[in-house]
Amino acid sequence: MIDFEMPDSIRKQRTMLQSVAENMMRPVSRYFDEHEHEIPWDYINFMHEAMRAMGAGSLRPDEEKKRKGPRMGYQRLAFMIEMLSWGDAGFYLCTPGGGLGAAAVEATGTPEQKERFLKRFTQEKPAFAAMAMTEPHCGSDTAAIRTTAVRDGDEWVLNGEKIFVTAGHKALVDTDGFVVVWATIDPSAGRAGMRPFVVEAGTPGCSVTKLEDKLGIRASDTVSIVLQDCRIPFDNILGSPEVEKKTTKGFKGAMATFDATRPLVSASALGIARATLELLKELLGQQGVTIRYGLPRSLLTNIEREIIDMEVMLRSAWLLVLKAVWMADERKPNTTIASMSKVRSGDVVTKITQRAVELMGPIGYSRDLLLEKWMRDAKINDIFEGTGQINRLVVARRILGYTRRELS
Ligand SMILES: Cc1cc2nc3c(=O)[nH]c(=O)nc-3n(C[C@H](O)[C@H](O)[C@H](O)COP(=O)(O)OP(=O)(O)OC[C@H]3O[C@@H](n4cnc5c(N)ncnc54)[C@H](O)[C@@H]3O)c2cc1C
Repeated sequence: MIDFEMPDSIRKQRTMLQSVAENMMRPVSRYFDEHEHEIPWDYINFMHEAMRAMGAGSLRPDEEKKRKGPRMGYQRLAFMIEMLSWGDAGFYLCTPGGGLGAAAVEATGTPEQKERFLKRFTQEKPAFAAMAMTEPHCGSDTAAIRTTAVRDGDEWVLNGEKIFVTAGHKALVDTDGFVVVWATIDPSAGRAGMRPFVVEAGTPGCSVTKLEDKLGIRASDTVSIVLQDCRIPFDNILGSPEVEKKTTKGFKGAMATFDATRPLVSASALGIARATLELLKELLGQQGVTIRYGLPRSLLTNIEREIIDMEVMLRSAWLLVLKAVWMADERKPNTTIASMSKVRSGDVVTKITQRAVELMGPIGYSRDLLLEKWMRDAKINDIFEGTGQINRLVVARRILGYTRRELS
């Protein structure tokens, strides 16, 4: 059964994160937006210590196994991420710990690999893990990746280029982290050749070649990575070490990673949307506009109707997130609902942030407030972890019963 009440243990952590958001993020949000390649170490170090104090790695779902009661790892994460992104979505992406890379290890690694690769996040120094799928010629069509992995005795040799890797600099250069690189062991096999490999910081042949200058989430680094005869140990291939050539297990692992992370991206989007709506209502209140809830719609002003519609959008999108993370915690297949939540939250945050800027006129457009920044931060939610169009395709295929080939 789904319980819509926030459990006490989550509420307490969320209260702590609200204080982090108010005191460590909002005051410097504008600064890090305008100084894109500076790293918010105060936040990173604080969060690392706080997460260790709360129970090692408490922003990681697998830690949940150690708690009593129902499994709530993904639900906990969704509530935490929403709150951190309410503070600043770019900062949230600078939260130390697993990130996308750890999600890939959790979705595809063996128990031994999870222990080996994830334990660094609970140690004294903060660390990051990124995931590199996208290449210069392909993003949505993940099966078209060209980065190769060739076995040579006890090692894999990786060659290729990855672009737009979130937190790649922090994972490979600034901390002792790793990046999960998706490569093909058989370029002619398409999806069946795809496998995830862990490339650790400091591995010769793996270099960060470009830091992107971006529209939004500018506190978060996004990089290109070149792999040139990059040798990694044989058992850094995630999952079974048996390398059967014709299996889509690797591709399914990528999709399982997205099933886990799409609802969390949605939670982040909705944190931005809530921040925007709250500020919008506050600003309207200062201009004497209050929302008269409970009146018949015909008696409301246009602005009141708009705000109420935005609240409906936000709350209904959040229900999709809750369902998607609850299913993930229950280990129920959640692909459809995960993609639905991503589509909806991407739409909702884009609409709410754009409309807020419009409604506030010049001060909405001005850098004096964070509204214009949140509008820029919002857009990425329609792009990474599967664009809006790709997630719509996933939903449509599943509802209509079409294969990938029948509906692409
Ligand atoms: C800030 C940022 C951070 C990122 N972080 C990461 C990361 O950490 N790791 C990583 O691997 N990647 C990351 N990405 C890359 C991101 O996942 C890709 O940009 C995304 O998957 C889209 O791929 P593409 O850019 O190649 O666009 P394309 O696939 O070329 O798509 C271009 C447009 O065409 C549409 N389109 C494509 N195919 C279809 C179709 N079949 N039907 C309808 N429309 C279609 C898309 O929706 C899109 O609007 C990041 C990107 C950004 C901007």
